[in-house]
Amino acid sequence: MAGNNEQKQRERQRRREDAQRRAYEFLRGRNGADELSNALMILALVLALISAVTGWVVLALIALAALVVSMWRTLSRNIPARARERQRYRDLTRPLRQHIKLVEMQVKHRDKRYFLCKNCGTVLSVPRGKGKLRVTCPKCHTKTVQNS
Ligand SMILES: [Zn+2]
Repeated sequence: MAGNNEQKQRERQRRREDAQRRAYEFLRGRNGADELSNALMILALVLALISAVTGWVVLALIALAALVVSMWRTLSRNIPARARERQRYRDLTRPLRQHIKLVEMQVKHRDKRYFLCKNCGTVLSVPRGKGKLRVTCPKCHTKTVQNS
């Protein structure tokens, strides 16, 4: 009886490894999920929810399209093309991401005043209450005068 159980366990283990190997083979050489695919997936979910609430069919169709594009990108074998799309997406959303980071930092550290470099958008900070301070961006070396 114990031997039978062991055999079953070994069989289960073998099947699990088999499934893992097949999944690995299937995904090898493919782009995989990146930020753009994830964003499309979230967009699809949000649109599907709004569509369910409002009954707007067109939103459901856009959601479906976003879902299909997201999955197609994840499984695509043309990795350089997908990387270029991802970079364009990152460039496009950079101002938004910089502002989110600015707010995040400002909430975390109330003793500092945060602002964005006017040239490159890097989040910079000065201690509060020190009057006007000259700040040099460590990334692009642009000098600005910031009221603290
Ligand atoms: Zn800068």
